Amino acid sequence: MSYHINKDGYYGRFGGAFIPEMLYPNVQELKENYLEITRDPAFVAEFEELLSTYVGRPTPLYFAQRFSERYGAQIYLKREDLCHTGAHKVNNTIGQILLAKKLGKTRIIAETGAGQHGVATATVCARMGMECIVYMGEVDIKRQAPNVARMKLLGAKVRPASSGSKTLKDATNEAIRDWINNPVDTHYIIGSVVGPHPYPDLVARFQSVISKEVKEQLKNLGVNKPDHVIACVGGGSNAAGIYYHYLDEDVNLIAVEAAGKGISSGHSAATTAIGKMGIIHGSKTLLMQTSDGQITEPYSISAGLDYPGIGPLHAHLFESGRAEFIAITDEAAMQAGKSLSELEGIIPAIETAHALAVFKERKFDNDEIVVVNLSGRGDKDLQTYMDYYSL
Ligand SMILES: *Cc1c(COP(=O)(O)O)cnc(C)c1O
Repeated sequence: MSYHINKDGYYGRFGGAFIPEMLYPNVQELKENYLEITRDPAFVAEFEELLSTYVGRPTPLYFAQRFSERYGAQIYLKREDLCHTGAHKVNNTIGQILLAKKLGKTRIIAETGAGQHGVATATVCARMGMECIVYMGEVDIKRQAPNVARMKLLGAKVRPASSGSKTLKDATNEAIRDWINNPVDTHYIIGSVVGPHPYPDLVARFQSVISKEVKEQLKNLGVNKPDHVIACVGGGSNAAGIYYHYLDEDVNLIAVEAAGKGISSGHSAATTAIGKMGIIHGSKTLLMQTSDGQITEPYSISAGLDYPGIGPLHAHLFESGRAEFIAITDEAAMQAGKSLSELEGIIPAIETAHALAVFKERKFDNDEIVVVNLSGRGDKDLQTYMDYYSL
């Protein structure tokens, strides 16, 4: 069984490029050029230089001693929370803006729900001196005011999407419309391993620096390979990054989705538990939908996991049984976030706290080595922690 993209842009039954005809030239240009450009030694050198001096890579692999003692396993945290902008997302936006430059693009568009990808995009646009337009649902603009302010401070234009539910999928529609109208000078930076081929593969490759570093860091500790690797899954980019170099090895992969108020409560984002095959964002994958195929509004206490689908790689990892999928409720995630804060002095993003909650849900042996992708820091979630714990 292969867990890598095939030449047609599929992982098993999932993937492809289901796009309006008018978008075809843009996606085709990307598809024809992305591998050659991103493999070019000069590109690799510039990417690695920015990851090192701007993002702060390699991020540490930290042995969480007190957390390990509490939960009974050898738990290592891959500290993506220490990346510039506070999460893994910037690894991808740096890669894509360099690619956009090589393609001769001068204008960047993106869509964002929680605002995290918008901030990561606005950041690299500022660094590169490129025009930046971020589409965001009107409802999300109100909910995520601090991130809107960050984007504006970074010089980006935030354009409200006022159709439909005024959230992420409406912002996506606006971004696609923009790209159709500006096919020559504009690159569309997608923020996770979702979207039409080649985006899932492109984003996974940029994020794969995470598992490349983990491998080397474990080797320096005399560890050949971990027993388990855990990551939370919104679209799936931090998970794809930490799984990437372990896909073909005997390492158990654990993917954690948001169960919200309970898998069957009608308020969740547990796509593999309740989703079915469909097309979202130009890709054939698993997604949450009504019986007549309309995408249902997802829910999670963490804005970054609040997505109604998962990337096609993850749909394939689920269907093939390669990865173990676990759904974690809001409540369990909030407890795990507090637990890591108190035991290790690290306040995780609430997305990340879902991955950490697995230790209460599932037993590991004391000597098993478990690597968790600590995808982001919790500063952005302070208000949610304050409300939840009446701090
Ligand atoms: C956006 C985000 C996620 C979810 O996105 P993926 O593409 O699934 O990684 C997870 N953690 C943090 C901290 C995020 O900002």
